[in-house]
Amino acid sequence: MDFSLSPRSQDYLNRVTAFIKDEISPIEDDYFKTLKAQKNPWVVLPIIEELKAKAKAQGLWNLFMPIDPYGASLSNEEYAPLAEQMGRSFIAPEIFNCNAPDTGNMEVLIHYGSDEQKQQWLPRLLSGEIRSAFCMTEPDVASSDATNMAATAIVEGDEVVINGSKWWSTGIGHPNCEMIIFMGLTDPTAPRHQQHSMVLVPKNSKGVKIERMLTVFGELDEPFGHGEVSFTNVRLPKSAIIAGPGRGFEIAQGRLGPGRIHHSMRTIGAAERALELLIKRGLSREAFGDKLINLGGNRAIVADARMAIEQARLLTMKAAWTIDKHGIKAAMSEVSQIKVIAPNILQTIVDQAIQIHGGAGLSDDFPLTMLFATARSLRLADGPDEVHRALIAKLELKKYAK
Ligand SMILES: Cc1cc2nc3c(=O)[nH]c(=O)nc-3n(C[C@H](O)[C@H](O)[C@H](O)COP(=O)(O)OP(=O)(O)OC[C@H]3O[C@@H](n4cnc5c(N)ncnc54)[C@H](O)[C@@H]3O)c2cc1C
Repeated sequence: MDFSLSPRSQDYLNRVTAFIKDEISPIEDDYFKTLKAQKNPWVVLPIIEELKAKAKAQGLWNLFMPIDPYGASLSNEEYAPLAEQMGRSFIAPEIFNCNAPDTGNMEVLIHYGSDEQKQQWLPRLLSGEIRSAFCMTEPDVASSDATNMAATAIVEGDEVVINGSKWWSTGIGHPNCEMIIFMGLTDPTAPRHQQHSMVLVPKNSKGVKIERMLTVFGELDEPFGHGEVSFTNVRLPKSAIIAGPGRGFEIAQGRLGPGRIHHSMRTIGAAERALELLIKRGLSREAFGDKLINLGGNRAIVADARMAIEQARLLTMKAAWTIDKHGIKAAMSEVSQIKVIAPNILQTIVDQAIQIHGGAGLSDDFPLTMLFATARSLRLADGPDEVHRALIAKLELKKYAK
């Protein structure tokens, strides 16, 4: 495996890094302060559209998209260092149109959508004009098992009728969110992995209602947010089903593969940012006659963090390399491994960074609580740690089956 960057990946990396340093990082603190001060924070502040337009004009747009002509057509290996840089900022992914869940939803449309579905939704998602949500998880069933979903998508003649309740629908609160990918039970008598369908639902359809927005550690994550959404007798043409009835589970699996590795790449960047904050604070304050970084086991903490990040980055690159060379199926274990490891190392390093900041670490003066919430959320979103461990163990034990 040779992880040296291709010339075009290096070029994109230089430009993305410079854009984040010069355009995004200087305004990020103010952006969140201004947003929180709004009477209605479920808005897109002008600075976001300005930066999106700038990034687009510089060709720093849809960098996640491996398929020509829809985006930069970088391989996963080429995209990984760019995503890492984006992970250093909370808003950079959106500025480059590389944010979840839109990225995964666009990939679903490209891989599984009909020409009509692509025409209806793709151009406006690719241009960043609209946003979307992915509604799979339900309040009433253990949703880490995707075959448990109980909300329904029943075919009646030329229509599909949707009923049920979803939650943790990220992005549903965004004022530009217009499209939902909904997963529902279509045929409970079919084989377990062919019972569900994915349906493209316009958010303004009759019967779609945001019941409430959920908080993560007390934060609403505006303007994207995570909602609980009810679907009551939502009627759509049958052509809104993606790839036909019964393909929901298959699409969910395909959708989450690249998404999980993108999350991991960004998480490594977030871990680098946390370590940087930890070191800078440790060097900038003194107690008991020495810099904080030199006290107790703090230098060992720095060393352990560096070792953990390097290991995680190498594993992320290996997972990206395996997907590129041998496809997502061959990379299943590595993708799950890094999906467990990256958020856990981020959580540990942020926790230590909070500690060395003392009380300040828990305040909004530093981005540490937001980074902690990100790490903790990612240990659940796109599959809890335990589900990934179960898959890794299953694949490992398979090697010993007769
Ligand atoms: C911030 C955030 C954003 C999210 N965004 C979205 C989104 O956009 N769209 C969407 O559909 N969902 C989203 N989710 C939901 C997320 O994917 C689910 O929370 C997750 O899949 C777990 O489902 P659950 O909450 O029903 O937990 P459950 O399935 O009830 O599982 C609870 C716990 O049971 C244990 N467990 C489960 N399986 C096993 C096992 N095999 N072995 C050992 N223990 C196990 C684990 O400890 C697990 O955490 C988001 C979640 C969060 C926190």
